[in-house]
Amino acid sequence: MTSPHSTPDDALIAFLQGVSVQSQCRLALALWQRAPDEVVPLCSVPNIALSHTPVWRWRLPVSPKTGTHAVQRLSRKELPSLVTAGLPFSPGLALYVDCSAFGRMAGGGFVLIWDEATALSDGFADADLVGGEATVQWLRPVYAQLVDARQWEEQNAESAAQFHHVFDSVPQGIVVLSARHPQAQINAAAAALLGLSAGWVPAEVLAQAMRATRERCDNAAELEQAYAPLQSDLDAELVARWFLDDCVWRVDTHPILQSGHKGRVWLFHDITPQVRLERVLRMEANHDPLTGLFNRRAFFDRAQVAFQLPSPGPSDGHRLALVMLDIDHFKAVNDLYGHPAGDMVLKEVARRAKSVLRDGDVLARYGGEELIVLLNVISSDTARAAAERLRTVMDTEPVQVGDQAITVSVSVGLALRSSGSETLLQTIERADANLYRAKRQGRNRVVDDAD
Ligand code: GH3
Ligand code: MG
Ligand code: MG
Repeated sequence: MTSPHSTPDDALIAFLQGVSVQSQCRLALALWQRAPDEVVPLCSVPNIALSHTPVWRWRLPVSPKTGTHAVQRLSRKELPSLVTAGLPFSPGLALYVDCSAFGRMAGGGFVLIWDEATALSDGFADADLVGGEATVQWLRPVYAQLVDARQWEEQNAESAAQFHHVFDSVPQGIVVLSARHPQAQINAAAAALLGLSAGWVPAEVLAQAMRATRERCDNAAELEQAYAPLQSDLDAELVARWFLDDCVWRVDTHPILQSGHKGRVWLFHDITPQVRLERVLRMEANHDPLTGLFNRRAFFDRAQVAFQLPSPGPSDGHRLALVMLDIDHFKAVNDLYGHPAGDMVLKEVARRAKSVLRDGDVLARYGGEELIVLLNVISSDTARAAAERLRTVMDTEPVQVGDQAITVSVSVGLALRSSGSETLLQTIERADANLYRAKRQGRNRVVDDAD
């Protein structure tokens, strides 16, 4: 069992201690050949300050898996000066035991150094100094395994740290519901959205926070329905938009497989800027920038829909009517007060028209100084009354532009759809003809088919 304070080097240090006792050396040093010319000192017994010298430019001799060449002498010149300089004794014999042939991930081996004073008996083979040929043969794979395990642990710790860094620093909210434990892992962005703290939370707490956040959404009822399948279907995948506090979140959820168990991941992406842009583009495509009214295209889209609905005919108290308005002598307004003042008048005419219409009426800028309205009326009288309101609201008081009071009037052509088979263009044509007649009859008046 490892103690809570164990370090990745504990096993290696114990190994070096054993070898030191056995060989009576003054220093045992564990090395890892990280790259062909890079050796990393891992630890030593006794402990010398190796951390000051993280990498040595040194190519260690390599030995085959079997044979008697695993133990090699290193001359004093071959030892990096960083080792010799740091030693608390004057180095004599140094042996290197290469273990690379047994490592799966890492190459390297260990170095044993004796001091100059240690007298070596003649006839001793180098392997005997380590404990004999047989000992060397089992020490080598053991050492390689320990270094491999250490690398494994380091790599795992590194990828876990990397994962956590990415998990917590991405702008998207991420929630991972564990497959095997009733726990969820939440990153910083998701925690901020759900009002929780980042890290691990019990699944129950997460579920409650998700529900509470969803209930605060403008489209809570719609979301409630959308997420119903999640109760019973582990494989359900869903993408939904959460409209929350002036923000729009794209929320994806899908199942994940963890060691054969089904978990679930939730991704929260703030798409507010994108949705705003879409709205602006849609607005620009459908609206006239000067008056803010629907443009001609948007008018046709809507009016066509109304004209395609089944129409029961003139007698049942539901009819479509078209009103066309044209500002009288508008060219003179431009000529007298200037084009910018003309623009202000147009804006005011649009505002006044809107003010006397109902919400369901479709008002649009049809051309330069011409507006069009689609009305849903119960009789020709109500249509006529609406048209009259549109006319009178323009000329009851002048339009104030700066210190100029500009008198405005409009001529109005009205046409009720004559039958369910009359097309939009045909009704428009009749309203336009009536508008032309209103102009000819002296302007500032409403003309319909009855006039
Ligand atoms: P009528 O009573 O016969 O309708 O006379 P009118 O002067 O209104 O008719 P005309 O068709 O001769 O002139 C329309 C004018 O509207 C000409 C054009 O410059 C002006 N106009 C069209 N669009 C705009 C606009 O967006 N801003 C301004 N200031 N003027 C516009
Ligand atoms: Mg005109
Ligand atoms: Mg005009």
